[in-house]
Amino acid sequence: MAAPQRKTDIGPPHYKEYLPPVIQKNFGDWKYHQIINPGLMVHVANSGDKIWTVRVASPRLLSTDTIRDIADIAEKYCGGYVRFTTRNNIEFLVSEEKNIEPLINELKSKHYMIGGIGSGVSNIVHTQGWIHCHSAAVDASALVKVIMDEFADYFTTKQTPNKVRFAVACCTNMCGAVHCSDIAYVGIHRKIPRIDHDNIKNMCEVPSTVACCPTNAISPDPAKKSLKINADKCMYCGNCYSVCPALPIADPENDGVAIVVGGKVGSLRSNPKFSKLVVPFIKNNPPKWPEVVEATKKIFNAYMAGANKHERVGEWVERIGWEKFFKVTGLPFTFQHIDDFTIARETFRTAATFKW
Ligand code: SF4
Ligand code: SF4
Repeated sequence: MAAPQRKTDIGPPHYKEYLPPVIQKNFGDWKYHQIINPGLMVHVANSGDKIWTVRVASPRLLSTDTIRDIADIAEKYCGGYVRFTTRNNIEFLVSEEKNIEPLINELKSKHYMIGGIGSGVSNIVHTQGWIHCHSAAVDASALVKVIMDEFADYFTTKQTPNKVRFAVACCTNMCGAVHCSDIAYVGIHRKIPRIDHDNIKNMCEVPSTVACCPTNAISPDPAKKSLKINADKCMYCGNCYSVCPALPIADPENDGVAIVVGGKVGSLRSNPKFSKLVVPFIKNNPPKWPEVVEATKKIFNAYMAGANKHERVGEWVERIGWEKFFKVTGLPFTFQHIDDFTIARETFRTAATFKW
């Protein structure tokens, strides 16, 4: 006889337990879906059952008060069914049509921003930034705020030729979906970690710190009872700082942002694409990062002016060619854009972003 299933807190519960009853009943048996407006869509099953999705933006880092409020709203209108998308949009899943209007009215009265579905700008997927992660080269939350301040109308009402997905990763470890988003930002360090020789012996294990470096740049320094870093091999990833707090890498003068464009996950019309470097470096300028916003507007406006209907940013660039992309955006083409792989042969560093 099989042992009874023991309840533990190890591993996630099966997702099907949390699907709204309408989705459970019609699982895998849907006829079509329709975007009614940027904040509302409906899925219709072959049985005739329907479920509506009301989407709002979230800042991703939420207070417990806000989470409780979201849960209370979901209890009131959605039988408790709510989900977060990978880009941190909040989706209220409504099974009864009569609840849609009061839900939207309550969301509006509480100043939630409704939208983000279809051809426009969705919420920005981003990483921890200075608020939480130790290796951040840029503040993700603040950068997201200034970008969304600029493009919020494209979340709520205005349309783009196709989806424009933004992403922010605050270092090259890249916990955000920067490699596959239409316009994305990567925080980059440009100097090797500083070595705090006095603290290495108190705070760090030498073997594990040497082993953590992906490019073999770290080696023991027996004379100092410490470590040394081969600057030519270091790719400024900050990995060693995670292992050894006596190797800080954050640098207010030399940290900043690179911009990459043209990535996408979907395989509609063209294959999925990796993003490509278009702006190698913009120095951090908190709290508003005006130079980053300006560069983004150049890319966004050129895309709006030149893209055909349904073209993603990467598809538009490939159609017009990268030479023309730099011409129409007015962004300078620099030596960092050219990857000749020479640094890869001697240093294991393989991307043009390390040419500093
Ligand atoms: Fe931390 Fe880098 Fe991830 Fe940002 S991208 S959260 S700095 S590891
Ligand atoms: Fe190695 Fe990265 Fe540390 Fe440079 S920053 S020494 S590449 S772990």
